Amino acid sequence: MNKHLIKLVGKNNVLESDEDLEAYSIDASLLERRPALVVFPKKVNEIQKIINYCNRINMPLTLRGAGTNCVGSAIGTNNYIMDFSRMNKVIEFEYENKDKFIRLQPGIVVENLNRFLSKYKLTFPILTPEQSASTIGGILALNKYGFRAFKYRRAMNWVSELEVLDGTGKYYNINNKEDFENFIGTEGCIGAIASAKLKLANNIENVSMDLFGFEDIVQLITKWREIEKKEGLISLVLFDNISSVFLDLGEGYHLIAEYENNKGSVIEPLKIKKLRNKILGIQNLLADKGYIYRDDPSLPIDQTYDLFKWLNTNEIPIAGSLYNNTIHCFFNQEQKNLREEMYELVNKHQGNVSSNYGYGILKKEYTPQIFKRKMMRLKEKYDYNNILNRGEVLDYK
Ligand SMILES: Cc1cc2nc3c(=O)[nH]c(=O)nc-3n(C[C@H](O)[C@H](O)[C@H](O)COP(=O)(O)OP(=O)(O)OC[C@H]3O[C@@H](n4cnc5c(N)ncnc54)[C@H](O)[C@@H]3O)c2cc1C
Repeated sequence: MNKHLIKLVGKNNVLESDEDLEAYSIDASLLERRPALVVFPKKVNEIQKIINYCNRINMPLTLRGAGTNCVGSAIGTNNYIMDFSRMNKVIEFEYENKDKFIRLQPGIVVENLNRFLSKYKLTFPILTPEQSASTIGGILALNKYGFRAFKYRRAMNWVSELEVLDGTGKYYNINNKEDFENFIGTEGCIGAIASAKLKLANNIENVSMDLFGFEDIVQLITKWREIEKKEGLISLVLFDNISSVFLDLGEGYHLIAEYENNKGSVIEPLKIKKLRNKILGIQNLLADKGYIYRDDPSLPIDQTYDLFKWLNTNEIPIAGSLYNNTIHCFFNQEQKNLREEMYELVNKHQGNVSSNYGYGILKKEYTPQIFKRKMMRLKEKYDYNNILNRGEVLDYK
């Protein structure tokens, strides 16, 4: 029993039983690491005290939202886990003035947030397939983009203020891009996000879509380039032959483009809804068929041909947004060992093995040098005892 933490946050906010620790031994990466304890903070000063305590006893502390990341960044061996899911309150909400915003705790789930905002015709527009579980803290730590990234870009663009505790327990209230870059997209290795003030987007009232089919990879790439230049593009999603067949789109590659104007050929709301459901439903469909390992390599568009060929030859389905030249692909149990081969191929073409999911434990060997150097510098400044998410993204000390 950890009496110190129990005194700090209360008995019900510390988990130490075998059963609980087992449940916290995995995240959506499906890697396994068994922690020593799980603690739930409820207030900013509790986060600070937990970090201070971990510094005192030199205990690595892994930050966790809902554990839906695909790279093992919410697990750790013999560490403490700080689970933010009980910090899920709205602190302040402004919807009447021109500058609409919401200030909230980091454990709030994106779908719950958007359900609340929909009453005001507003949205936090970083929408991913896991929005029913993933938290604002997780989305910001990975600086995610969602389906509609061609319009809304990455999560960092939607933040106007953050409260953060760094790895030494020091408190910051930050409101500019330069500071955001230290704590957003750094995978929880530099600081714990204690609250965020988010900008909000108005709901888009009218959209149209296009659906294109191709037999051939060159045709597909040519069309992809053409669509990317189209005015009003919000999202562009690719399905390969395997996922197209699962979705009843027929054989071949398919692209679904969504526009915030009426220039697409599909304008009837029911047809649009059906296409959107395909985009939202494909990952669960693939998981049901056993494709449970997800990857998100990105390559310069001119270099993607070889990757498409490789995925096609190995019968690895592709399904997801093409933003940032990302190819979302899915492996089953038998294909799992091919992932390393794909990472090598991506590296050979000067690509990035992770465009959106992060590096965590799983891909840290492939963390780009430039990002490693940045993380090293930030660790020196904000977490020199290497308390937060130790062993993730890079080996520091
Ligand atoms: C079925 C499925 C489909 C998915 N599809 C996609 C997809 O299409 N596109 C995509 O981009 N992602 C996808 N993901 C990945 C997942 O949705 C994201 O990684 C999500 O952002 C993680 O949120 P989370 O709350 O679960 O965070 P966690 O997994 O708990 O943590 C993620 C990272 O955030 C850090 N963190 C959490 N809270 C805080 C905090 N308060 N302060 C600082 N750091 C913190 C953690 O330490 C960790 O590094 C998918 C996942 C699943 C399971």
